[in-house]
Amino acid sequence: MLSSKLLARVPTAVNGLRAAHSASGLSFDLSDEHLQLQSTVRQFVKNEVIPKAAEHDRTMEFPWEIIKKAHAAGLLNTQVPEEYGGLGLDLVADVIIGESFGYGCTGIGTAIMANDLASTPVQIAGSDAIKKKFLGRLTEEPLVAAYCVTEPGAGSDVAGLKTRAEKKGDEYIVNGNKMWITNGGHASFYFLLARTDPDPKTPAGKAFTAFVVEGDSPGIVKGKKEINLGQRCSDTRAITFEDVRIPAAQVLGKPGEGFKVAMKTFDKTRPLVAAAAIGLAGRALDESARYALERKTFGVPIANHQAVSFLLADMATNIELGRLLTYRSAQEVELGRSGSYYASIAKRFAADSAVEAATNAIQIFGGAGFNTEYPVEKLYRDSKIFQIYEGTSQVQRVIISRQLLQKVKDNGSYFFA
Ligand SMILES: Cc1cc2nc3c(=O)[nH]c(=O)nc-3n(C[C@H](O)[C@H](O)[C@H](O)COP(=O)(O)OP(=O)(O)OC[C@H]3O[C@@H](n4cnc5c(N)ncnc54)[C@H](O)[C@@H]3O)c2cc1C
Repeated sequence: MLSSKLLARVPTAVNGLRAAHSASGLSFDLSDEHLQLQSTVRQFVKNEVIPKAAEHDRTMEFPWEIIKKAHAAGLLNTQVPEEYGGLGLDLVADVIIGESFGYGCTGIGTAIMANDLASTPVQIAGSDAIKKKFLGRLTEEPLVAAYCVTEPGAGSDVAGLKTRAEKKGDEYIVNGNKMWITNGGHASFYFLLARTDPDPKTPAGKAFTAFVVEGDSPGIVKGKKEINLGQRCSDTRAITFEDVRIPAAQVLGKPGEGFKVAMKTFDKTRPLVAAAAIGLAGRALDESARYALERKTFGVPIANHQAVSFLLADMATNIELGRLLTYRSAQEVELGRSGSYYASIAKRFAADSAVEAATNAIQIFGGAGFNTEYPVEKLYRDSKIFQIYEGTSQVQRVIISRQLLQKVKDNGSYFFA
């Protein structure tokens, strides 16, 4: 539900949730409040993001000015609970924000979304004092944070992390190398996962500890900004920890139980990645449908050629499916159910659909699609990462297949379970 704070910032917001249920108990309608939020974020993206996206892509400059405006408009860190100064919005609201930013620019969207990735584990497992300190900070100022898990030698295989945290008195000393860390160069704080049990035989569920770490801690060495294929204004870096001291009070959850914290985070953040991917697919559809209606070959708009219009039909179908899955995955979390299954399905499908939509958008643009003066080559470059970060499309399939097979083992059927 939207908080009174957001409603105060959004003067035309409609108060009160509409009970949007049909006689069947199913609803595909957003509440009036969510619709109002959707209209606000769409306007913001139209005015502030779309006009700047190409320039940020070209210069690779971090989108600070947009982050500041998004913060002032109440569109950043929206899930931080009201008691810590946030808006306390639900995950559906965040999905609504994510898909619009995805439509505008997924590079800028990723810089913003990485805050959710970094702050969710603090929300899940931080003590009250830690939440006040680190979440409160995000709501007071337009800051960014980072989720620091992947290493040069371990991405999909999180259990293979080598970064070590050794307890000495009432602090931990951390040494190790992290890689591909979004917002890494600008983070006010890092979520960190490090190995606290050196025995390689210890199961992942007991071997790692989660921490929140001050961004300016002595011993944190930030690598150069990586030059990536797409989402080029998003800041990706290697982060090295050299004898970084972290107070034991900054452990998130219990020592040894960090793996669970890091993984549980994805239930809430993969729906946001899916939302951004669907936004990108939506942009690919809009750009290529408009072009197909204008561009003529053989005396007719290319939209009249079935081979072109069928590409558009497939894009629209995938967008509708992806949206349903994404909203479902957010709703599962809101209903307090284990969200990992639907989060993986939504992320897998939305990521693959975004890549397919961007690829086909280039096809529809023909030669112009391959050129930087036209919008779709950026979509193509930006789309690929959705199949990689926050768990590759293969890893999502691993999660989905594991859970579906378990269901069949338990019930003899997936479909009728
Ligand atoms: C731009 C960018 C931003 C990122 N941001 C962050 C961030 O903020 N924080 C963070 O911690 N990490 C971040 N990452 C890291 C990202 O999550 C990893 O790159 C990703 O999880 C894949 O890990 P890897 O690169 O080590 O590939 P690998 O794990 O080496 O995988 C290589 C290939 O093997 C496949 N593969 C691996 N294992 C299996 C399996 N069991 N079954 C089937 N196929 C498999 C993969 O799908 C992939 O195709 C980011 C990466 C990039 C590129």
